[in-house]
Amino acid sequence: MEYYELTKLYELLESTNKRLEKTKHIAEFIKNCTPKDIDKVILLLQGIVYPKYEDKKIGIASKMVVKALNAATGISSEEIEKYWKKTGDLGITAQELIKKKKQHTLFSQILTVEKVFNTVRKLAKIEGVGSTDLKIKMISELLTSAKPIEARYIVRLLLEDLRVGLGEGTLRDSIALAYYEIKEKKSIDIENIQGLFGKDSELTTIRDKIQEAYDISNDYSVVASTLMEKGIISLNNIDMDVLKPLKVMLAQKVKDIKEGFERVGVPCAIEYKYDGFRMLIGKKSDKIVIHTRRLENVTKQFPDVVELVKENVKAETCILDGEAVGYDPKTKKYIPFQNISQRIKRKYDIEQLSREVPVELNIFDILYYNNNSLINESFEKRRKIIEKIIIQKDLKIKLAEQIITDNEKEAEKFYKKSLEFGNEGVMLKSLTAPYKPGSRVGYMVKLKPVMETLDLVIVGAEWGEGKRKGWLTSFTISCYDEDTDEYLEIGKFGTGIKEKDEEGVSFEQLTELLKPYIIEEKGREVKIKPEIVVEIKFEEIQKSPSYNSGYALRFPRLVRIREDRRPDESSTLRQIEEMYKKQ
Ligand code: ATP
Repeated sequence: MEYYELTKLYELLESTNKRLEKTKHIAEFIKNCTPKDIDKVILLLQGIVYPKYEDKKIGIASKMVVKALNAATGISSEEIEKYWKKTGDLGITAQELIKKKKQHTLFSQILTVEKVFNTVRKLAKIEGVGSTDLKIKMISELLTSAKPIEARYIVRLLLEDLRVGLGEGTLRDSIALAYYEIKEKKSIDIENIQGLFGKDSELTTIRDKIQEAYDISNDYSVVASTLMEKGIISLNNIDMDVLKPLKVMLAQKVKDIKEGFERVGVPCAIEYKYDGFRMLIGKKSDKIVIHTRRLENVTKQFPDVVELVKENVKAETCILDGEAVGYDPKTKKYIPFQNISQRIKRKYDIEQLSREVPVELNIFDILYYNNNSLINESFEKRRKIIEKIIIQKDLKIKLAEQIITDNEKEAEKFYKKSLEFGNEGVMLKSLTAPYKPGSRVGYMVKLKPVMETLDLVIVGAEWGEGKRKGWLTSFTISCYDEDTDEYLEIGKFGTGIKEKDEEGVSFEQLTELLKPYIIEEKGREVKIKPEIVVEIKFEEIQKSPSYNSGYALRFPRLVRIREDRRPDESSTLRQIEEMYKKQ
């Protein structure tokens, strides 16, 4: 397939922010993909060449692209930079410059999807001496063959900033629609798509199956190619790989025990809600892999946990779900999440840090055991298996503290005891429910003392002045719009941050964290790639024309950094609309 065709689709997606239109455009495109190309197309549509869970970045800096453009067009780097400042988009700049150049050249090689995909993958792998020159050469060769519109999207792909506004939900719906249209041998008009996604409809069933397969594989390219080639039944065969990351099951919130009982049914299991760090642990013989709920591999950072699992879990293969809670090595008391969060990103002195900030692993679920998936088994049965296979040791590895009850008084007592222990609250869990990776379905609910907060993404800041010189200050925060995959601004915060590295988060710490993600600077203003999620406390949500979300927060204040959250897991525009209405 020619890459040019894909860029035509990108253009269509960029030209509309209507979700259904995007769905239709992509579905049409997928229907015409050959089996050879579909997996690549699905990744490229997301602006990536490796599934998101893989820790592989394309890693091309904009400066390198400027040099490659210079080599491809002969236009000086200064002039390219000038043009870039004017357009604010290096992709558009590349498009315009290649257009100028192409008027003078007659031949260019036809770029295929495969060629672009493979070249970018190669670029991502090159390292070592001379790698910069080689990369520039490869990029400039691509750009020399590219049509102007192709240059635009190649550059954006290289910079990992595709800007076509495509959310995961829309991609999933498009794959479902493409499959449905092929199966039914008809083409659905845009205005009828919404209606077909009704409750219990066939299209909805297909969509849910795709979502389930995605929650297990975390890779739409595998899901789409399996579905298109082998049909819907084959999605059941997408099996878990114990060493790959999986999405964890999430909890809904309840306001009291009574509501919790109603939601999960009684009798139910009630467990401590530990204030720690969620871990999904895969074991295959002696190989142990730890992933976060952001699907990041943190095995290296937790050698202590690896040892604990090796020694105390009796299973050939398994995937365990649990929470690592930090404790003070002297007092042996639990400490809050913030204190162990430093372990997540640490790259040096890991052994020493694991002694200074030790963790106790509290296992509360199992998804896979000795070559069998357990996600469709009841929680009661899954708990019995972890009771059987884990050798418990205080302050090392434990099963989550649990009672089973239908008695409100008993439950209240347990809740109080949990808080006294330094936990966040309790979880109430249905005994009969399966495990739904990636879903907030209400098979488990959380109860904790109320404080409304939002998880928001930092997208901008200002360089400080006076005593805050050299630090980023006044942080612009955004919520996530699932429909368009965009981050929409909702306010700025500057409080809740410490001047020095005392207890809590300091300006210096935030600055260090955000610096690698700065994409643009104008005077003191800094634009930041949406990557870092923070928990924000506030007094009220107000309607506001000042921010493009349409809302603003009154008195926003930083509570903590959420290292465990991906940006697209932050609070959504829809959630904020709901909260606003409830106020
Ligand atoms: P919060 O912000 O309240 O921690 P969250 O949005 O991070 O919640 P939720 O899924 O809504 O995540 O709340 C459940 C979280 O509580 C889990 O992700 C897990 O990290 C933690 N947790 C602690 N103890 C348990 C337990 N016994 N069972 C399940 N989850 C637990």
